[in-house]
Amino acid sequence: MKKANLEVRGMYCAHCSKAVENALGQAGLLSHVDLAHNRVEFTYDEEKISLEYLRRLVKRAGYELVIDERKTFDRNKVLVPVALLVLLFSLLGIVHHVLQPFQVEIPFFFFFGNDVTFLVLATISILVLGIPFFVRAVKGLRYKNVGMDFLISLSSLASYVLSLYLFITNMQRGIDPLTLHAHHMDGYRMTYFDGTCMILSIITLGHLLTDRIKLKADKNYQKAAIEPPKDSTLVYPDGTTETLDSDRLDVGDTIRVLAGDALPCDGHVVKGRGHIDESSLTGESRPRLVQVGDKVLGGTYLQDGPIEMEVEKIALESLYSSIQNESYALDQRKGKLSKLSDTIAAYFTPSVLLIALLSFLVCLFAMKLDVEESIVRACSVLSVSCPCAFGLAVPISSMSGYDCALRHGVLFKSGDTFEKIRRIQCAVFDKTGTLSTGRMHVEGFCGRKDLLPVVKAMEKNSLHPIALSLVQWLQEEKEEEIEAVQEIPGEGLRSGPYVLGNRRSVQGKSLSAELERFEEEKKDTSLVYLSDEREVLLILALVDELSQDSVDTIQELKRRGIHVYMVTGDRREYALQIAKRLTIDEENVLSEATPQSKASLLREIRKKEGVLCYVGDGINDTLALKEADLSFASYKANAIACSSADGLLLRPELSALLAALDISKKTYVNIIENFVWAILYNVAMIPLAVLGLLPMYLCAALMIASNLTLTLNSLRVRSYRPERKEKRR
Ligand code: ADP
Ligand code: MG
Repeated sequence: MKKANLEVRGMYCAHCSKAVENALGQAGLLSHVDLAHNRVEFTYDEEKISLEYLRRLVKRAGYELVIDERKTFDRNKVLVPVALLVLLFSLLGIVHHVLQPFQVEIPFFFFFGNDVTFLVLATISILVLGIPFFVRAVKGLRYKNVGMDFLISLSSLASYVLSLYLFITNMQRGIDPLTLHAHHMDGYRMTYFDGTCMILSIITLGHLLTDRIKLKADKNYQKAAIEPPKDSTLVYPDGTTETLDSDRLDVGDTIRVLAGDALPCDGHVVKGRGHIDESSLTGESRPRLVQVGDKVLGGTYLQDGPIEMEVEKIALESLYSSIQNESYALDQRKGKLSKLSDTIAAYFTPSVLLIALLSFLVCLFAMKLDVEESIVRACSVLSVSCPCAFGLAVPISSMSGYDCALRHGVLFKSGDTFEKIRRIQCAVFDKTGTLSTGRMHVEGFCGRKDLLPVVKAMEKNSLHPIALSLVQWLQEEKEEEIEAVQEIPGEGLRSGPYVLGNRRSVQGKSLSAELERFEEEKKDTSLVYLSDEREVLLILALVDELSQDSVDTIQELKRRGIHVYMVTGDRREYALQIAKRLTIDEENVLSEATPQSKASLLREIRKKEGVLCYVGDGINDTLALKEADLSFASYKANAIACSSADGLLLRPELSALLAALDISKKTYVNIIENFVWAILYNVAMIPLAVLGLLPMYLCAALMIASNLTLTLNSLRVRSYRPERKEKRR
């Protein structure tokens, strides 16, 4: 299977994206279109399906799937000059119409004053500019997908056919269509070819302009270009190496990465230490020090080294490729707002058709206008209405918001999550590795010093922050041969007779007076106990490292009225001490929790507080991450936590959450603005068109202006800048 992410040309709203998804669906593919970037993503079996076949399927639906930029015929090369020419001629024609009553004689204008010129122009418009619309409209009908293309096709064709009919009757009445000032002749009936020309040329040009803007915004925005390496150096257990294609790496492989290399996939360091430049992924410019046990992400760069890393995810599934392909955002779970906009868009076009029909009838029977005028007004209704607004409002805003959040260090896996975050009333954090940096310092130990090698050997098998810190601390210590190690989430490790873990793991075991004293002395630390079946042998005291950013974030959350809780598997005394430093209220600290109780505690908190967000990092958090209304895996979280969470924090700073909150709110406001605009615009313009106050060319111009306004407004979301810290405090 291969993942593809390709450009699609010719898409302008939700109807278009549906049409492209449907077309690919014919080949049995589940695809997702990203309207903000005009791209489609899907996974396909290279051996069974060729991209060329898919390109043809998409082409038949009226869109262009770009496989090879050079080979793809750029139809804009034809459309733009034709549309510009048609527009220019039509405008001159209109000027001519306007000047005519004043008897202004400009000889050159003769050319634009006659119906034959307009017949030719309109025919060219229909054949060159119109056909792409007609194709998409007809294809759309097949999937009951009636969108803007249909309205445009209908109004341009109707005005064309009507004009053609009038043109012929004029001729039958003996009026030479080449005669200037035919309008003043007896029995002349005005044609509407200019309407056809204007609708098609303006909308074609407007679409291209929209594309340009989107493209430009994207370029300015500069999504980090991540170039993963092609080759990797595989290290065999016996130390020998082999160079192979990074795509062929498997989970569990050990590879060597040299200073300056990009990492091919996600994994963790098993040897060496170095600084990783993660700016390509997260925008964070400070390099991060990684050492044995630390998580590293594909697509980032090693500045010094070398290191050896164990592969946790194959290259294709690595975070960088997900980000690149936006597959996280492409989750099937669409947000409520997207669903709403899809629904409105689906009903909107049929409603407009109905309104157009009604206005035709009203004009004809109630207002007693003639048939031609009634048709023209119905056509105006069709061209002024803008169903795109509804189909456009949500996707572009959401994608902009999603991009922006990513830029600020938060990856949302679904549109659903992105909408939810602005509604949270309460935030629950795991302590170790989430609120604390995960780097723990050993404050002292008591008991059998000779067992430290056992501790090291055991901790080497765990990714828990305590384990990583202890291994680091015991770097110089020799290693003991031990029996197979088993990790008990939220409690510790087990190996043969030994248990290394928290207070719960030594329940019922005897404790020497000396150890008891040590325990009492080090109340303010996190204690790790090594015991065998009968008694506690060794106690290590560790303290968490807290960052100022965590403190700031908690305070800011509280300032915004969000209640903050801390849940931890650690001891109560120590948890309270940490909470105090973080300014978390004592009654909001839940300690000595097991993985199961974390989830049930969340249920209780939710009953009290409402919509709840959980941030955690470890295997002991997976249940809680799933239980929460909304969950984030913190920066150093392990793979399971990442897969259980709704979003990922890509920076060590918790303040990324605040940025995400702001961006989500901003996006929401933006979407609402778009909705309001779309509604106001349509509600105001359609009646004007019915009353005959809007000439057809103006209708097209208004519609496209409305579309551009929406696109520009949606792209504005990206301009978010977090408040400066000084200001916040
Ligand atoms: P938190 O909820 O704060 O992230 P955990 O639930 O991961 O903490 O762990 C709870 C306690 O279990 C830790 O404070 C520690 O005492 C013990 N523990 C868990 N895993 C390990 C390990 N690998 N080595 C030593 N102790 C561990
Ligand atoms: Mg934790």
